[in-house]
Amino acid sequence: MVDLTEQLYALPGGDKFKLCIQCGTCAASCPSVFVMRYSPRQVIALVRAGMVREVLRSNAVWVCASCYMCTVRCPCDIQPTELMHALQMLGSQNGLLPDGVAVAAFYRTFAASVKARGRVHELGVMFRFLLTRPRKALRMLPVGISLFWHGRLRVRPPRAAGVKELTAMLKALREEAPAGMPARADVVGGGVRV
Ligand code: SF4
Ligand code: SF4
Repeated sequence: MVDLTEQLYALPGGDKFKLCIQCGTCAASCPSVFVMRYSPRQVIALVRAGMVREVLRSNAVWVCASCYMCTVRCPCDIQPTELMHALQMLGSQNGLLPDGVAVAAFYRTFAASVKARGRVHELGVMFRFLLTRPRKALRMLPVGISLFWHGRLRVRPPRAAGVKELTAMLKALREEAPAGMPARADVVGGGVRV
């Protein structure tokens, strides 16, 4: 069985997670902590205790807003934001996702759109995402119609210049990833390979 804790320690900067002094500055700085099952400080403590699966089954990493407050304020130069991203990646790749949290599915459709065209096609993303969540789709229909009438949802998918270069760049990032480790290219979209 894959040792998820060792995978996290092996990531660039991952060995720093061992240096956490559990001061709680990250938790006190986090704007999302009120909806997290585990605060950033607790996430680090659980990871160090080998309880990565416990964390991945909770909503903690998926409600991280990537604001970097925890990273900026940590007195030990640890990067909890990177840990949150890495945990999203591991959760996605190992099918360890919390029930009722749709963020991973949303990231997947968003990343697929960007990787295909170099830019996001909002209408396509919402359509693909909501196909997997029909009840949510019904609830969001009025918002979608309003956005459409206000010209915020383009029907024709945009295509950025340099898509070929983007594809080559992502391919190179995958090829340079250490054996058995997720590539940085797959961090895009919560680590969901698309
Ligand atoms: S701020 Fe840094 S040292 Fe303090 S609990 Fe958070 S990660 Fe650990
Ligand atoms: S990056 Fe995530 S975990 Fe860190 S303070 Fe912001 S929301 Fe909280």
